[in-house]
Amino acid sequence: MLKKEKLQKLKLINRPALHEILGVAEGSKPAILDAMSVDEEKNIHKIFPDLYIENIGKKLNPTSSINDVPMYVISKDKKVAKDLISDFTKNGFKNINKFLGYPSCCIEHMNSQNPWSRKIIYESCKSSKKISFLTNNLFNFRGRLKPEKNALKKMTIYFQKNDQIAHLLLRLNFISHIPCSYDCKKSTVIGKETYNLLEKYYPKLCLEIRSILSKPVLFFDLFKWIVFDGKIDKDMNLHYKKIVPPVSLIDSKLIKTFSSGDNIKVNKKSIKVYKGKNLIYEYQKKDEIDGFIINFQDKIF
Ligand SMILES: [Zn+2]
Repeated sequence: MLKKEKLQKLKLINRPALHEILGVAEGSKPAILDAMSVDEEKNIHKIFPDLYIENIGKKLNPTSSINDVPMYVISKDKKVAKDLISDFTKNGFKNINKFLGYPSCCIEHMNSQNPWSRKIIYESCKSSKKISFLTNNLFNFRGRLKPEKNALKKMTIYFQKNDQIAHLLLRLNFISHIPCSYDCKKSTVIGKETYNLLEKYYPKLCLEIRSILSKPVLFFDLFKWIVFDGKIDKDMNLHYKKIVPPVSLIDSKLIKTFSSGDNIKVNKKSIKVYKGKNLIYEYQKKDEIDGFIINFQDKIF
C-alpha cells in the first residue's frame, strides 16, 4: 500500500503515466520504457527509491524529441532492467515488448504490421466480439508515431486541440499495447489490474479516464477519429447526442457536419450522417477500412 504523501507527489508527474508507475511499483508490471526529463527521473527516484531507473541512452523514435528527453527503463527488479538494456543494446527495439510484459499473442499481432497503420487497428477490431473500455488503446499513440517530421507537428496540434483535458492526455489507456483483439483475454487481465490500481489510489481520475475510453469511436487512422457520446443499436447504427474529446486532427468541417446530425450508418462503402431520418451528408469511403466503428462499452466482460 502506497502512502498518501507519495501519491500526492506522484500525481504531479506527467511521464510515465501514473498507472504505469503504479503497476511497476506494486509489481503488476515488469518494466516500463518511457521518455522523461532529467527532473522527472529525479522526482520518481525520490518518490520510489527502491525502483531501478536507468537511462538507456536512446530516444524511442525521432518524435520523442518533443522536449528532447532521454529514454529510461524503470523496474522493481534490477535483473529485468539490466536484461532489457543488454538485449536492447544488441537487438534494438525487436524484443522490447516481451520485456514490458505484453501478451505473446499481441506481440505477434504488433510485429505483423506497421504499428502506425490503420490496418492493425482494423484487424484488432475485426477479431473482437465484445469490446470493453479496458482494452481501448487508441489514444495512447505517442510511442508508435511514424518517424517523420510531421508527426511532431501533429502531436503539438493534438495537444493544443485538447488542452481542456491536458491532465488526462498521456493517461488515456489501461493497457499500453495494441491488443490482438479488443477482447484478448490476457490484455483484459492486464487492463483490469491497471484499472484496479488506479481506482484504488486515484478513484476520481480513474472514472474520468473510464468515461473517455468507454465511447464508440469512428476510426480512420492514427490521428483521425471521432468519439461519440452515443449508443449502437441492433442494426449497428450509431445514435449520438454529441461528439466528445479527445478531438483528433480530422477536418473540423467534417466534425461540424457530424455534430449537426444525431445518427450515422456505416457500411463497407460509405458513412451516412442523418438528423432523425434526413440524410445530411454521405462520405464515400476509399476502402473498407476508411472509417469503421469500434464500439467501446462501459462494461467489463
Ligand atoms: Zn492478445
